[in-house]
Amino acid sequence: KTTLVWLQRELRLSHLPALQDAIAQSDKVALVYFHDPQRTLGQANSVWLAHSLLRLQASLRHKGAELLLYSGDFAQQFALALQEIEPQQVFYSVQVGQPFTEMQNLALQMCKKRQVALQPFYSEFWFTPGEVVNKQGNPYVVFTPFYKAVVDKLPALQPLDERVVTRDEDWLKLHWPQLPAERFELPLSLREIQNRPWAQKLLQYWQPGEDAAWQQLQRFITQNLSDYDHDRDFPLLDATSRLSAYLHFGEISAQAIYFELIAYAEENPQLNAQPWLRQLLWREFARLMLWFFPNTETEPFQQKFADMRWQDNAESLSAWQSGQTGIPIIDAGMRELWETGYMHNRVRMLVASLLTKDLNVNWRHGQAWFANTLLDADPANNAMGWQWVAGCGVDAAPYYRLFNPLRQSEKFDAQGDYIRKWVPELRTLSSKAIHAPWLYPQECVLKGINLGKHYPYPVVDLKRSRAQHLLRVDKLKRGG
Ligand code: FAD
Repeated sequence: KTTLVWLQRELRLSHLPALQDAIAQSDKVALVYFHDPQRTLGQANSVWLAHSLLRLQASLRHKGAELLLYSGDFAQQFALALQEIEPQQVFYSVQVGQPFTEMQNLALQMCKKRQVALQPFYSEFWFTPGEVVNKQGNPYVVFTPFYKAVVDKLPALQPLDERVVTRDEDWLKLHWPQLPAERFELPLSLREIQNRPWAQKLLQYWQPGEDAAWQQLQRFITQNLSDYDHDRDFPLLDATSRLSAYLHFGEISAQAIYFELIAYAEENPQLNAQPWLRQLLWREFARLMLWFFPNTETEPFQQKFADMRWQDNAESLSAWQSGQTGIPIIDAGMRELWETGYMHNRVRMLVASLLTKDLNVNWRHGQAWFANTLLDADPANNAMGWQWVAGCGVDAAPYYRLFNPLRQSEKFDAQGDYIRKWVPELRTLSSKAIHAPWLYPQECVLKGINLGKHYPYPVVDLKRSRAQHLLRVDKLKRGG
């Protein structure tokens, strides 16, 4: 029997039930990635993808095996793979959001037509969708009860040691001499993107791949986890795991992380692992939301927000994108994103709040920018993050979640060093003035900073925009 294991974002060799079951059931196993240049997530994401595929290819070759790569229109390439590999069955791990859902549907149709069995695995979820539901049998749409329900169920989670792929399997020695050479090469569009100077720049900050993911996890668990709850909101500190891109690409399994975490917590009983576990479960919650409500990738979860009147001012959007809003903490975040392909969670919330609430730009524009510039761009986490901040998603409170960027900046970057790092033109300002230079014109003059020339005035009057936002939300509530 031949099994085609179709990889989408599970770019790893361990903790992969689809692969393990395929090995157990088949004589021949083909590991395949389909790259459709029309169905990618974003530019930065594609850079990580290119490197992740290269890493996976390298570790497979090291063991004497191959990753097969098909590039082009998904439907055509999938049909071609069925023809060339002649599998009796296709195994894959279910992913949520686009372009995955569309490709999964196409695969289903094609396998049906050709009478090839298609088997989904739900290993990218902690529990199969539908397993964690409320008393009425409905999905949770509020995080805290969801979190509690999952925590209650965690002891039932199947231990992962039964699922680890051993390293010396016969299938690894399998070759595909009948396939054309291009099946073994990184697709051209990915080769091109990874050679661009900006892509090279992003990768100075990161090392994609399964091995690096495990090293990063170990480093985080042993060095930062104990202070996570205290330090996680301070953007200058390297206090969070920075595993988001590894998790998005499935270079490490979230379930495997859980078992690693509890093993470490057992050895270190003084450690409180809950705050980080809670964050990991936000990811699970976001995935389930998109599973149950797939249209929330593009539409507000709360229907009444469909009537929200957005201003969508192109100048405001462009100032925001380029880190030129004149509000230092916002500009620092947007420039960190541009430079490194990553932004700290606290700052993601602040920039999203400013865009949607103070600048009144539709959250979809922010979501699209993040999708294109974040290395960890993820359909579920991105849609949930934007809707949560915009106030139209699950578990969101529109009134209270209008962040005051100046107070937040003073609180979470008290000395202004995060701002100094990413907005160097302000670095000589005092830790008081740096959060709002326009309020300290004399100090700016003294330090030779010409506002409006060296650094912009704020694109928006924050007091006015706050009041206007609250009026809009009030009107919406009253159905006006
Ligand atoms: P840690 O704090 O170490 O958390 C561990 C893991 O838990 C993360 O890697 C991530 O997988 C998950 N996680 C943490 N916070 C959240 C959250 N709020 N929602 C869902 N999962 C979470 N995360 C993405 O992975 N991709 C995105 O495209 C994305 N877009 C976002 C957009 C907005 C507007 C906001 C407010 C948040 C977004 N997030 C997104 C969530 C969060 O900002 C990142 O996951 C986090 O900053 C990644 O850093 P870390 O790995 O060090 O996180």
